[in-house]
Amino acid sequence: MLKTIIYARYSSDKQNEQSIEGQIHECEQFAKTHDMVIIKHYIDRALSGKTDDRPSFLQMIKDSSSGLFDAVLVYKTDRFARNRYDSAVYKAKLKKNGIKIFYAKENIPDGPEGIILESMLEGFAEYYSAELSQKVKRGIKENIRKGLSFGGACPFGYKIVNKKYVIDDEQAPYVKKIFEDYAKGRRAIDIFNELNTLPNYAGKGRKWNRSSLNRMLTNKKYIGIYELEDVCVKDAIPPIIDEALFNKVQSRILFNRRHTTRAKVNYLLSGKLFCGLCEHSMTGKTGTSKTKVKYHYYVCSNRHCKQKKYRKELLEDIIIQYTVKDILNPKHFKMIAKKCLEIQQADNKINDILSMLKKQLTATKTKINNLMNAIEAGIITTSTKDRLEQLEQEKYKLEIEISTQQLNSNMLLSEEQIIYMLNEFYKKRADVSFYNQIIDCFIYKIYIYFDKICIVYNLNNSNKDVTYSDINELYKSSHLNSCGSPYDL
Ligand SMILES: [Zn+2]
Repeated sequence: MLKTIIYARYSSDKQNEQSIEGQIHECEQFAKTHDMVIIKHYIDRALSGKTDDRPSFLQMIKDSSSGLFDAVLVYKTDRFARNRYDSAVYKAKLKKNGIKIFYAKENIPDGPEGIILESMLEGFAEYYSAELSQKVKRGIKENIRKGLSFGGACPFGYKIVNKKYVIDDEQAPYVKKIFEDYAKGRRAIDIFNELNTLPNYAGKGRKWNRSSLNRMLTNKKYIGIYELEDVCVKDAIPPIIDEALFNKVQSRILFNRRHTTRAKVNYLLSGKLFCGLCEHSMTGKTGTSKTKVKYHYYVCSNRHCKQKKYRKELLEDIIIQYTVKDILNPKHFKMIAKKCLEIQQADNKINDILSMLKKQLTATKTKINNLMNAIEAGIITTSTKDRLEQLEQEKYKLEIEISTQQLNSNMLLSEEQIIYMLNEFYKKRADVSFYNQIIDCFIYKIYIYFDKICIVYNLNNSNKDVTYSDINELYKSSHLNSCGSPYDL
C-alpha cells in the first residue's frame, strides 16, 4: 500500500475549473484501483489564479522530507505548478525525497515528449540550484567558523550567549550520562523516561521520546562539529562528548536500526504497468517463499484475472534494457532533442504572460504620471495621496512579477543542453539507483501479456493518447515495434 496524500487546487477565475470536491473524488477513485491509502488532503483555494498563493502546496513540499507519505496524487498535471520551470523544481524536490507523483486524469497537452523535456529541465534546475546554494553556503561557513548559532532549537547541554554556543554546566553532565548509558546498552525507553523526570528539561513543556533521543545521540554538535545542510565545520563549538564515545554510540544505533526497521521497497513501475489481459493496473506486492525468503513481485490488481506474477527486479531490468535499446540510445538523441525543442517553442505561455505584465506596467506608470501632473497643477485631495500610494504598490508588484517571469523564460533549453542531459542519463543507464529516473522520463505505459511486453514510450508521432484498445489491436495483428519477446519471469 502506498501512503498517499492528495493535493487539490482551485482558482475561481478559470472557466470549466473542476471543483475541489470533484478533484478529490477523481483522486479517490484512482487510489482505489492503484493500491493507495489516502492519509491526508492538502488543499489550496485561491480566489484568483493571478496570485500564486499556495500555502498548502508549499507545506506539502516541506512535509515530503518527513517520510510520512510515499506518493502525491493530483487531479491533472496542471494542478502542480503554473509553469514548467516551477513544476520541474518542485518535482525534483519530491523525487529527491523518494516521493512518487501520480495524476488521476492524464492530460498531456504538449504530447508525451513534454515529459522528457521536463525531466531534462529537472536535471538543469538541480544544477542551477546547486550552483546558487554554493554561494549561500560560503556565507554560512564563514559564520559557523566564528561559532555563531543559526537559530533553531539549542541542543540540550548548551545555551546561547551572544549568539554563540556555550556549555550549560547544569545540563552537560546529563548529556554525558545519556551517551554513556546508551553505549553500555541501556534501553532507549529507560533513558528517555528518566530524562522526563529532569526538572530543567520538563520545564520547557516538551517530553523526551524515541525520536528526540535519537536526534540527541546523533547530533555532532556534542563533539564540536557544526553541520548545516552539507556544510560541516570542525571545532566550531565546545565539545561535551569525546569522539570515541560518540562513535561507539553511532555503531550501536546502526546495529539497533538494522534489527528493527524494514527496508522500503520502491516499485519503480507502479502507475505505469498494466495488465494486457484485463486492462487493470498491476501493483507491487511482497511475498515469502517456502524457504522463508522475502521476494517482491508485480501482480494484476483484478483478483479474477489469470495474469501471472512477475518478479520485480527481473521485470524492471528487462524494461530498462528495452528502454536503453529503443529510446535512451545516442543514435536517437538528436531526434528527441528536436521534439523537445518543438514543444518548448510552442509553449509561448511565458512570453504571453510577460507581454501582458509589461502592458500593465506601462499603464500603471501612465496613471502615476497623470496623478503627478494633477498634483503639480494643485489638484490635491486626501484621496489623491491614497491613490498614488496604491499605484506605487501596484508598480512594485508588477516589477517583481516581471523579473520572476523573465527568470523563468531564461530556463529554455538549447539543443546542446538537451543532448548533454540525455548523455548524462545514458551514462547512468546501468546504475540501479537511477532506474527510477529513466522510467519516469521515458516510459508512458507498459502492458504485459503472457507472451509479450508492450512498452509505450514518451515519444509519439500521432499526438494522440495510446489506449488499451490501440495496444490490443496491435497485439492481435502482431505489428508491435516496441514489444519484448516472451520472457519467463
Ligand atoms: Zn489482469
